Amino acid sequence: MAKHILVKGIVQGVGFRPYVYGLATRYHLRGWVCNTSGGVEILVDGQSDALEQFIQSLQLEKPSLATIDSLEISEGSSLTSPGFEIRESQDVYGAYQPLSADIAICPECERELFAPNDRRYLYPFINCAHCGPRFTIIKNIPYDRPNTTMANFPMCDRCRSEYGDPLDRRFHAQPIACPHCGPFVELRETHSQFPTTDPRISSIEIRTSAILKARRLLREGYIVAIKGLGGFHLACDASNPYTVAELRDRKGRVDTPFAVMTANLTVIASVCEMGWEEQRLLAGRAKPIVLLSKKKQTPLQPYRVSELVAPNLDTLGVMLPYTPLHLLLLNQTDPVLAREPVPPILVMTSSNFSEEPIATENQDALRRLSPLADAFLLHNREIHIRSEDSVVRVDKGSTVYLRRSSGYAPYPVKLPFEARPTLAVGSELKNTFCLTRDRYAFLSHHIGDMDNVETHASFEQGIRHLSHIFRVQPEIIAHDLHPHYFTTQYAGRSDVHPIGVQHHHAHIVSCMVDNGLDDRRLIGLSFDGTGYGTDGMTWGGEALIASFVNFERFAHLEYLPLPGSDAAIRFPWRIAVGYAHALGMDIDELPFLQTVEKQALQALRRQIDREISSPLTSSMGRLFDAVASLIGVRNESTYEAQAAIEMEVWSKPYVPTSQPYTYSVEKTVHGITIHLHELLQSIVEDVRAGKSIGRIGANFHRTIADMAIDVCHRARASTGLNEVALSGGVWQNQILLDLVRDGLRQKNFVVYFHKQVPTNDGGLSLGQAVIANHVIAKRFSTVHVLSV
Ligand SMILES: [Zn+2]
Ligand SMILES: [Zn+2]
Ligand SMILES: [Zn+2]
Repeated sequence: MAKHILVKGIVQGVGFRPYVYGLATRYHLRGWVCNTSGGVEILVDGQSDALEQFIQSLQLEKPSLATIDSLEISEGSSLTSPGFEIRESQDVYGAYQPLSADIAICPECERELFAPNDRRYLYPFINCAHCGPRFTIIKNIPYDRPNTTMANFPMCDRCRSEYGDPLDRRFHAQPIACPHCGPFVELRETHSQFPTTDPRISSIEIRTSAILKARRLLREGYIVAIKGLGGFHLACDASNPYTVAELRDRKGRVDTPFAVMTANLTVIASVCEMGWEEQRLLAGRAKPIVLLSKKKQTPLQPYRVSELVAPNLDTLGVMLPYTPLHLLLLNQTDPVLAREPVPPILVMTSSNFSEEPIATENQDALRRLSPLADAFLLHNREIHIRSEDSVVRVDKGSTVYLRRSSGYAPYPVKLPFEARPTLAVGSELKNTFCLTRDRYAFLSHHIGDMDNVETHASFEQGIRHLSHIFRVQPEIIAHDLHPHYFTTQYAGRSDVHPIGVQHHHAHIVSCMVDNGLDDRRLIGLSFDGTGYGTDGMTWGGEALIASFVNFERFAHLEYLPLPGSDAAIRFPWRIAVGYAHALGMDIDELPFLQTVEKQALQALRRQIDREISSPLTSSMGRLFDAVASLIGVRNESTYEAQAAIEMEVWSKPYVPTSQPYTYSVEKTVHGITIHLHELLQSIVEDVRAGKSIGRIGANFHRTIADMAIDVCHRARASTGLNEVALSGGVWQNQILLDLVRDGLRQKNFVVYFHKQVPTNDGGLSLGQAVIANHVIAKRFSTVHVLSV
């Protein structure tokens, strides 16, 4: 008796075929297993009870990295050949499957890396069937060595025998390598002309010389560009304020927080607060940057992080080494490496000038990054697709994605309906794009802010690559309504049916699908920075009644002028002055304006009166900026939302005792408008009365939370809806999220917040794709939309 089994899901690059081999052998079954571009195919022949046990175990004992989405079992033709074999992979026309993300080095490989008698001792490219690069080296499917950037490295005899041995943990590990046959590192100093020679087949001293030298340079305060898994990092000693200041200066980053990589968890524990959930994330297989609360530094503390690493913030982004190369750079105990001690906490920031994408190619890096780095730690394994580090935070025991990229992309989000082949191009900031087919939404890695040609190129390359890998030929292209976005223009150039999707509608639907909800009406609070409204204004403080197909604007903040348009975002004092002027408030004597020239103030007001480049906005993000500036947090933001983020830090201690200010609500035929004059006037009076930034800031947070809850009450009263989805960049504010979520739950609302994708614009393309699918389905009603 024989069975043919087709397994779909994340089943390639995760040790699945060796696992099937082991299982078949255990149950004495004949047959074969094979990777195809559509999944893993198995034919098993043997006793019927053994076959049944095999199929049961197949799901129960699967490798931890594998996800089985479906098993299709049919009768197979009986086999005459004995034994079980792993067959050559097959490319099935049009077939596709989800791909594994890159996986951090596993404990077994780490043990071998530091075992002096192992043949891969201190070898920076050690990996196995359970760890190593995947997404960033794959050029095509099925996932096999010739389809990866490892194709340039013919295996030596010993690697080949491990690769072919079903009992070896490197059985069919596609990136398998060793010091004799695999990639190698070299160190180049920016001003040296002579590349080092091929260090292969030589002594351990020569093989590790580049790493030892990098460790010395880092210790001595130099900045080293390091080629990682998805691109280059710039690294330096995080405890050395001079070096960190130099790095800021060279990168043109005034205050943007840098992430750090530490030697181990003990080092992290000495500088940050860390719960069980955070430890699990830090040490897990995705190894993202985790935002942790900083500990107060004391003179007795064994390790230090310069205040310049994440200035004015109470959190620090921390990650652990996730490649063997990182481990070799940060190791504190190995006798060979200990010859060059290295600081246990390194700044590890993506290597680019302010807005460009992260560098991935050696020549490109040497050209672009020479002004930034004193030396380059390079290697010759090519990065096919760039991927930046993911950034996450733990919120009440669950993971919140602030940037979903390395280690997570391109794992799909499962859809509650059968989707058409669709490309959603995402937003202009924190861009990701999304491809759908069947019941999968493949959200891309982080592309970045679409304000330079390098990012445009990276966006287009990413779309070409992932559409090819997932065999998606889009029938629909979903885009934002903003006519000037690069992504909108890109959609316009395509010959596929374009569908414009309102920005905040997309946010809310993204949150719905993220929570596995099917199509329904619910209340959506989209509190955000900037999004193009259907009336041509800039929206962002919106309460919607939304479904997958359409939305009503139930309530919004009143429109106020944004003098200088997007440029005002960098200078929150301009927003504060603009709002106050439009509301007829006199604020000239407030402390925050004492450093602003009178002429600049007058010019700004004239600009508003004459309606020159002063678009009207209902943005919640801008209201936070305005208030932060008004109460004296800062007048200039050197990175996105800096003023609002610092206001949150000041406000935290005062939240438990905070009191709301008043605001007024106007009901019109077009919905509810929330007026801000009373709120801003009360804040100005508190500033005049000398109340602290933290006290006023906490009261302001409390007011916005009350406002949000009040709007939901009104929406429930008029529609009977009881579910609320929270989405948009402002929900990254933890104080607001906690107050609103708790407040709504106390009033028996069901509240949804993001679980798998970011609440900021990094999650937008998911909502765009879902809306476009449903709009098309409704328009033509030829697509059968299934609900779960
Ligand atoms: Zn491994
Ligand atoms: Zn080898
Ligand atoms: Zn947005």
